[in-house]
Amino acid sequence: MAGKGKKKHPKGKPKKRRAKPLREETREQAAGEEVRPKEELEPAPLSEPLPGETEAIELEGPVDGSVGAEAEPPEEEGEEWGRRLRRGMSRSRRAITMPFTRAAARKAITPEFWTEAEDALIAADAGVACSARIVENAKKRIISEGIRDIEGLKDAFRREVVAMLESFGEPPEPPPERPRVIFIAGVNGVGKTTTAAKIGFLLKEKGNKILFAAADTFRAAGIEQMEMWASRVVAPVVSHQAGGDPAAVVYDSIESAKAKSIDTVLVDTAGRLHTKKNLMEELGKMWRVADRQLPGRPEAILVIDATTGQNGVSQARIFGEVLDVSSIALTKMDGSAKGGVVMAIGMELGIPVAYIGVGEGISDLKPFDPEQYATALF
Ligand code: GDP
Repeated sequence: MAGKGKKKHPKGKPKKRRAKPLREETREQAAGEEVRPKEELEPAPLSEPLPGETEAIELEGPVDGSVGAEAEPPEEEGEEWGRRLRRGMSRSRRAITMPFTRAAARKAITPEFWTEAEDALIAADAGVACSARIVENAKKRIISEGIRDIEGLKDAFRREVVAMLESFGEPPEPPPERPRVIFIAGVNGVGKTTTAAKIGFLLKEKGNKILFAAADTFRAAGIEQMEMWASRVVAPVVSHQAGGDPAAVVYDSIESAKAKSIDTVLVDTAGRLHTKKNLMEELGKMWRVADRQLPGRPEAILVIDATTGQNGVSQARIFGEVLDVSSIALTKMDGSAKGGVVMAIGMELGIPVAYIGVGEGISDLKPFDPEQYATALF
């Protein structure tokens, strides 16, 4: 149904930004040879060769070698989100800040520092192109601004990460028409049902009337789980028997939402990727049903498990074939050392991350903020 050469996105695909190729001529530039056009994100060119590339720069300030390896303080009840995010991202941060700890031990920024920083970003699944660009830009910033302390080094990296994430754009503004329908898609186990509940909880807190659609009819347990979350969030849920047609659940949910003046319908979908063809046909049908019934257009949030890192990028490609994926909800950041995948997704797919999850609790998911993310990462 969804395939077979039919039009997949009845109201047009989202505009996806493509990553630009990286420059490879830094060394030639440094040697004063031909200078090619600069990229958007790059700071002004340096007229002098980059000293940190071939020789060590001595560090000032606290450089006792333990910088960046500080132990996590014990969790506090009612801890504010920035701290929870920082705690959740501790595994990724430990890996990414290792080069800074080494530089502190050497009391210098040596040429190895740049390679180690790039390798650490790649190991955190930020992607090769992103990692190279961040390091190259941070290096220019550090040298041109004469940064000589570890905190300054980290801050330069933070600023580059924020600039890069902001260049991927923001999640789209919610449409004005009501009801709004958001498909929560992704492969099994990534956290779709819990994410639907968490997003519902956030929207309800903002005063939205929400309704859940238990459209993962393939698993009886999936329907029960959605019903359980709906009762916790204290919101209505539309469900059919296990094995029923998920498109019929979507249809009934939208009818019910119209009757009850609901603002947002959150559709929990199936994710059994081993029957990829059926799954995609099913999702395509649900999408078309919603598209016909709604005054506006449906939306889709793809849920990606951060512990799977770069696999998430290929999942996004597959789901993007039938759904108009406008943003990503990245779950399980708390168990992941691959938190850099946020950047790879933006760079390789041009899809911004809208939500980030760091735990199983209802309030463990929040809108994604590049500044908070960068602060938690370095
Ligand atoms: P689905 O199959 O995609 O619907 O996934 P579920 O919503 O059933 O979630 C699968 C498991 O992941 C559950 O045990 C959730 O509690 C857990 N989970 C979801 N999000 C997070 C998160 O951000 N952090 C952690 N640690 N676990 C999560």
